[in-house]
Amino acid sequence: MDATHVTHAISIDVEEYFHAVNLRQAFPESEWERLPRRAMVGVETALRLLDRAGCKGTFFVLGWIAEHEPEVVRAIVSAGHEIASHGHSHRMAQELGPDAFEADVKKSLDLLAPFTPRPIRGFRASTFSVMKSTWWALERLALLGLVYDSSIFPVRHDRYGVPDFARVPVVVAAGARTLIELPLLTWRVAGMNLPAAGGGYLRQLPLWFTRNALHAIAREGAPGVVYLHPWELDPGQPRAAPSVIGRLGHLRHYRNLERTADRLAQLLAEFPFATCEALLPLARPLQQPGA
Ligand SMILES: [Zn+2]
Repeated sequence: MDATHVTHAISIDVEEYFHAVNLRQAFPESEWERLPRRAMVGVETALRLLDRAGCKGTFFVLGWIAEHEPEVVRAIVSAGHEIASHGHSHRMAQELGPDAFEADVKKSLDLLAPFTPRPIRGFRASTFSVMKSTWWALERLALLGLVYDSSIFPVRHDRYGVPDFARVPVVVAAGARTLIELPLLTWRVAGMNLPAAGGGYLRQLPLWFTRNALHAIAREGAPGVVYLHPWELDPGQPRAAPSVIGRLGHLRHYRNLERTADRLAQLLAEFPFATCEALLPLARPLQQPGA
């Protein structure tokens, strides 16, 4: 297949800088209500860049944002992008357990539904926390009526990942039902899946890395799923001290924030991108968990 004819998916996980799991030490949940809110800054940048590229994307919005910053959700909807769920509390699936996870996602769907006339079809878990240990999450999502999930990162990582999962959109068993999984973009090199889906990888690594990953997956005839957070487009956000979050945490969250908007603009200029729901017809046949 001609790689230039593959359309990829662009997604934004709409949360505040203080929701990042990496920054919990600096911004505990008990303080969220009182902290300065910045999501609109990054969302406006994302909307402007998508508009300039003539492209619609998927915004996985946290229920907390719909509850506290409804103007952010309204701006996304009025620009014509897809609204999907990023859960409510930004707790990871393994912290919640099956019942609290389902309740958390349900709460976000109830908060988001009034903003859009279209049914909400997609979900992305906090910190890509659908893994082998939290496989029950897929069944719970299907029970809530969701059509697809985009939470599985087929890589080895200290916090997340299902290294042997498919790298392309696939139908997965979800209890008695099925769900479509849109895994995050990876680049397969020397038998290893390297993470290349955007976010920290787009900020920390040279742009050719993401570019090569998109070309490589397109040559396989499959689309890639790229993501970013509004806080990655907001160099002016309040900053946590390295002494509180550790040097690695500081590097992961703050390095190259001022370059990310340019990099996103370059990707949007070079590759065709659309929403996550636009990829659903491309899903390959049923895989067993871990297959
Ligand atoms: Zn998130």
